[in-house]
Amino acid sequence: MNHTNKNELAVRNRFLFQLFLVSCFLFLVSCAQQEPSRTEIALGNTLCTITLFKHGNENIYNEIFNKIREIENLMSVNIPSSDISRINAAAGIESVQVHAEVFKVIERAVYFANVSDGAFDPTVGPLVALWGINTGSENIPSQHKIDEVLPLVNWRNIELDESNTSVFLTQRGMSLDLGAIAKGYAADSAAKIIRDANITRALIDLGGNIIVIGERSANVPWRVGIQKPGHKRGESIVTLQLTDKTIVTSGVYERYFKENGKHYHHLFEPFSGYPADNGLLSVTIVMDVSMDADALSTAVFVLGYERGLVLLESFPEVEAIFIFENMEIRSTNRLN
Ligand code: FAD
Ligand code: MG
Repeated sequence: MNHTNKNELAVRNRFLFQLFLVSCFLFLVSCAQQEPSRTEIALGNTLCTITLFKHGNENIYNEIFNKIREIENLMSVNIPSSDISRINAAAGIESVQVHAEVFKVIERAVYFANVSDGAFDPTVGPLVALWGINTGSENIPSQHKIDEVLPLVNWRNIELDESNTSVFLTQRGMSLDLGAIAKGYAADSAAKIIRDANITRALIDLGGNIIVIGERSANVPWRVGIQKPGHKRGESIVTLQLTDKTIVTSGVYERYFKENGKHYHHLFEPFSGYPADNGLLSVTIVMDVSMDADALSTAVFVLGYERGLVLLESFPEVEAIFIFENMEIRSTNRLN
């Protein structure tokens, strides 16, 4: 190798080393500013995706997913040691002291049961078990069986004692199911961790319970699509532009079975014991608190369009989008 070639090689090596240092620096900067999103299955078989922009890091992702699992362990009806399973096992026998967070969610569920005249009812457990939707053994129960469990579905038979955060279901056979509200609570808990860490831009998606934190970029809102019912997952029928909001949808198209050409879905009308059949395919709620949006989306769906609108009059800060069986879209028109 001649002298010139040696010099060229030295210059090239120095350049490569500098390039290496610059890329290490950029990598560190990008790690500090943005972690890729993390997806895990939690809350039963719910796909949970968190995306943190700016200052997100591994520790915060861990903290969020640990919190979601803690909520599942406290509130799942399918985990025998959960507070909800303990309440259900003691139905008609004794009251059960529960974690303060569980008490808070049950209290809120009772509030929405009250304001919706029982269209939202956290004591739907016996109906959920009877229909078995998404369990692999779904069936249309006989009218006799439905009549047998209907008296057990009554939120007025939940007794709450705030002094020691205890819960009593007054009738044997009653059971709580927080499937229509606890995902929202989990999303709010994730948002709290994110905001407490001073992360100003993030996306939370817990199986369709969405929270957008901050803006997508300076003065640009997030764009969130509402699923077109019955179409490929991710195909939107409407796109909303939002900043710092939660968007929660209750629909008939994810959990259902078909028999004799008819759809039987998982949103039950607690007075008849059948899936609500009112011409709606989905109801989306947009507001600030995901737990409330979760409860309201189910309540409004079960009430149907007209009665749902009446309930929403008490929540002027809430936006709702209704998709009908003929794909007609109506909204509360407060969205701009
Ligand atoms: P939503 O409208 O928010 O809720 C519908 C669900 O609420 C129904 O599935 C039923 O459980 C209940 N419900 C039906 N009618 C009413 C009514 N009128 N009033 C009140 N509630 C009603 N899924 C699994 O398959 N396996 C699991 O092990 C499992 N574990 C879970 C644990 C937790 C803590 C949570 C929050 C959810 C879990 N899930 C599980 C999912 C759950 O069963 C619901 O199906 C899911 O939360 C429905 O959410 P959604 O947004 O589709 O509908
Ligand atoms: Mg809900």
